[in-house]
Amino acid sequence: MAFVAYLNSQRIRVSDFTWLEWVRFQQSYREQHLEMACGMRGVPKLSHRNQPYFAHLRRVGCDCPADSLAQMELKRHVWKAVRAAGWQVEFEVRGQIDTRHWFVDVLACKAQEQVGFLIQLDSQAPAYYEERAAACRAASVRPVWLVDRSAAETLWPLSAEPLPIFRLHRDQDGERVDLPRQIPPLPLFVFVRGILAGQLYWRQPGWGWRSPNRRESVQPLRPITPVT
Ligand SMILES: [Zn+2]
Repeated sequence: MAFVAYLNSQRIRVSDFTWLEWVRFQQSYREQHLEMACGMRGVPKLSHRNQPYFAHLRRVGCDCPADSLAQMELKRHVWKAVRAAGWQVEFEVRGQIDTRHWFVDVLACKAQEQVGFLIQLDSQAPAYYEERAAACRAASVRPVWLVDRSAAETLWPLSAEPLPIFRLHRDQDGERVDLPRQIPPLPLFVFVRGILAGQLYWRQPGWGWRSPNRRESVQPLRPITPVT
């Protein structure tokens, strides 16, 4: 599953389509060449919630991460929050610096600033986060991880320098992001906007943001007003 694919070698995004255009595209895409980012043939689909996405025609011989519907929903929510914050936004951006490959689920850009949101719902070893974060920084992309609470359980403490990893959970009102220091969890939308607006920030050596320790690295600068 993806929100980005290549139509006759042109990058296209689900957000380029209205719902009706998407339905028409589902009927007409076979006349053109639709590829996933990995080069495999793609298919435009609709989820059971009527959300458009691209899928592999066949997954044989491809090691793309198999995003779940839950992950796609989160990507969409982050994307909306970035757009609402007035930043340029792109889905699923990848690049290469020297031998390092980097990839973010949602990239936010404004002037010279680039913030990459990475969504992780399954458990990974600390080295996985460290490597991906290092690749992002090499590309001047500030990484912000959103990791499912259960998948983050095994992450503490990280072996190397602190990483901007925030734990996600879901309650009856939607996704929330856990914050340290008895700060109540924030709705995902408010969290993303807070990060981009500088109301929340991660202090990281090398970015002019200093982290005293990994559990106390989010500092609210001023009260955050939920955006309706
Ligand atoms: Zn693939």
